[in-house]
Amino acid sequence: MAEIEIGEVETGEHIKKDIQLIKDGIRIDGRRFDELRKITLKLGVLKRADGSAYVEWGKNKVLAAVYGPREIFPKFLQNPTRSIVRCIYNLAPFSVDERKRPGPDRRSVEISKVSTEALESVIMCERFPNTTIDIFIEILQADAGTRCAGLTAASLALADAGIPMKDLISACAAGKIEGHVVLDLMKEEDNYGECDLPIAIMPRKKGIVLLQMDGKLTRDEFDKALKLAYDGAMKVYEMQKETLMKNITEVGEGDGY
Ligand code: UDP
Repeated sequence: MAEIEIGEVETGEHIKKDIQLIKDGIRIDGRRFDELRKITLKLGVLKRADGSAYVEWGKNKVLAAVYGPREIFPKFLQNPTRSIVRCIYNLAPFSVDERKRPGPDRRSVEISKVSTEALESVIMCERFPNTTIDIFIEILQADAGTRCAGLTAASLALADAGIPMKDLISACAAGKIEGHVVLDLMKEEDNYGECDLPIAIMPRKKGIVLLQMDGKLTRDEFDKALKLAYDGAMKVYEMQKETLMKNITEVGEGDGY
């Protein structure tokens, strides 16, 4: 079977580990192979941002804030045909076991770039010429899957800001641990597993706006993991819709509609 190989990443076979990730078909946090971690979504958690959202996804804690559309400076950055989307992903120094050096590193620059591209593919940028839409994703606590949690939060924050979008963005990862394809890897599984495959989708238009792969999969495993991640992202979409609907109802009730 042909193997898909991306990057110079070590696979599970090469990493020495003294941790058993699966016992009797159950993962170390008690989940089955196709189970998501517990996810909680909140809208409008920040007063000063135009839109915001907070996501707890397993042990991940993620805040997203949106500012804009607003005039962009310096002026030479302006585009008379569309808004410029800028997304910054930041892993807080206190979010991980070993204090992370503050500021951008290669990883966060990469995640900011792919997140910007994913988000601008759904935002109706042409409606806001000469402006910028700034999106900040702050990872307060990390336990693998932060880019998926970050994009899910960012898309909710954009909706909270009232920015017109063609679709939401919903994200989820699948991967391979101890030879099994599983949904939504947590930290130990990400560290000691064989592969992580995060994706972000446009759930209504059924398009993929982000797909990355860290590790190795056979083609069959890839197909299986992609389907699992896609179905996981669709479940996230249902939760996002529910959160948005609840918020609309709450606003409506508060305003006497
Ligand atoms: N991580 C860490 N320090 C770092 C970067 C990552 O401890 O400088 C941890 C963190 O828990 C993160 C996980 O490794 O969630 C997996 O990181 P990855 O690059 O795979 O991205 P993610 O799965 O969070 O999108």
